[in-house]
Amino acid sequence: MSIDEPLSKATRLFMAKRIFDVHWTRALDRPWRVGGCLECQGRNDCPQLDWAIELATEVAALMFQKMTR
Ligand SMILES: [Zn+2]
Repeated sequence: MSIDEPLSKATRLFMAKRIFDVHWTRALDRPWRVGGCLECQGRNDCPQLDWAIELATEVAALMFQKMTR
């Protein structure tokens, strides 16, 4: 494992938060649609939001593992 692994993970989390801000919480007039993003209108899915959700899920699973260990 490289020594900058925690830093890069924190950086990715920060990037994920930015994506959530732009691609998720801006859909105020409409509740969040699964796989949808108002910022990417005309598209059925948002790759950036997919990536952010995947990362958040990964981090949540890691935290859960540490809590139950
Ligand atoms: Zn989007």
